[in-house]
Amino acid sequence: MADGAGFGTIQVGTEAGAEALWSRCRILLKERVGAGSFQSWISPLRLASVEGGVATLTVPTAFLGSYVARNFQEAILAALAEAGGPASRLVFEAQGRTPMRGAVPMPAAQAAAPMAAPALAPEPAEETQRLDARLTFDRFVVAKSNELAYAAARRISEGMAVGFNPLFLHGGVGLGKTHLMQAIAHEMRARRPHTRVLYLSAEQFMIRFVTALRDRKMMDFKQVFRAVDVLMVDDIQFIAGKDSTQEEFFHTFNALVDQGKQIVLTADRSPVEIAALEERVTSRLQSGLVVQVHPADYELRLGVLQSKLAAARVADPNLRIADGVLDFLATRVTSNLRVLEGALTRLCAQASLVGREITLDLARDCLGDVLRASDRKVSIEEIQRKVAEHYHIRLADLIGPKRLRSFARPRQMAMYLAKTMTSRSLPDIGRRFGGRDHTTVMHGVRKIEELLGTDAQIADDLEILRRALEG
Ligand code: ADP
Ligand code: MG
Repeated sequence: MADGAGFGTIQVGTEAGAEALWSRCRILLKERVGAGSFQSWISPLRLASVEGGVATLTVPTAFLGSYVARNFQEAILAALAEAGGPASRLVFEAQGRTPMRGAVPMPAAQAAAPMAAPALAPEPAEETQRLDARLTFDRFVVAKSNELAYAAARRISEGMAVGFNPLFLHGGVGLGKTHLMQAIAHEMRARRPHTRVLYLSAEQFMIRFVTALRDRKMMDFKQVFRAVDVLMVDDIQFIAGKDSTQEEFFHTFNALVDQGKQIVLTADRSPVEIAALEERVTSRLQSGLVVQVHPADYELRLGVLQSKLAAARVADPNLRIADGVLDFLATRVTSNLRVLEGALTRLCAQASLVGREITLDLARDCLGDVLRASDRKVSIEEIQRKVAEHYHIRLADLIGPKRLRSFARPRQMAMYLAKTMTSRSLPDIGRRFGGRDHTTVMHGVRKIEELLGTDAQIADDLEILRRALEG
């Protein structure tokens, strides 16, 4: 049984050939999709054959097949080509079933019979997903943008009836939603060790659900979820469009709410903005307290940096950072707190390595790529379009001569963004705003600067727009 080790001429019609090819693909895929996704989605697959441009993969359930088809098809085709078994199409064959076309989603309810072989994911010994010990309330910096979310999370963690169910936190990536959720879990464990708190990602929820279906253990599954006191599901947008998971989640949700158990959910959008979420689910989600976590402003960014640096100093007391470096980071890295934190972590690692103080120059060198990503070139047209969209006015009114406040303020905002996000001169900006004078632009820029200190709405608008433009 030669496994046809040479590339390009592999005999993949045979089982051994396919196995060898697949093991090379697995190595490539693990690197590309990340260890977590690999474990959940790729590792249960087996390559049966590659013939006539069609790669046939066996999957434990049709559901898994449709998920992989939707999310990893391209990656698998690329890996096959690189590993010497190119194919133009994938077919997923649920164990003991007729092949199904890659792109056709099959409801999980039709999943194939249980089978002994590859497990979807290892059964977690502990019910709650592992918590990150750093994500506690004392390490959470409170600012205007997150104070409501923080207050609500705090209330729940105290364990009293709070009068809102569920708590639904939403906001862009890297703004502290997961941090708050895990902080609730930590706090409850410390205060009331007997309270059953279950924290998991929506993806994890789905994996458990699918596993339970496959293993015919739905009773156990329901038992676990129905028995908790507090259920927290992170990134709930993940189950949108995944009908049977959504259905099950809805039942779990209702059962818990009916028993007066607390639920906390997060998503990257508000319930109404999550497309492909059933109407009845949306309205149940909205029946509690829906709180947005807003983009972090400068103060919060700086506060988070200071807090992370203090923590890093505990680990390495010799860590030295020159004046102005934190300020520089907080000003330049505005996309999200995770990226900001990553930048600081890199700087600290660098400093420990070279045993030197982190200066501004060192920071610039070390973070070139992060800074360049933040400096993505933005055009004035793009700014104008985004601003008009944000304020729900027509582009013509934004640029045109009307002096109505409802046009003038957005116009000033757009001028401010043009001045701060592009390298255009004031006269140049003026020309692009309907041939206005450079002094008008300057006045607009000053006006916004002035308002930023006094008007939270303006500050919020600015952050949202800047983030949207930095894409
Ligand atoms: P999300 O779940 O909203 O995408 P995370 O909770 O994962 O964001 O936060 C990203 C990173 O930023 C985490 O390391 C978290 O600790 C940090 N972070 C976010 N908000 C704060 C905050 N207010 N104070 C301290 N750290 C924060
Ligand atoms: Mg998160």
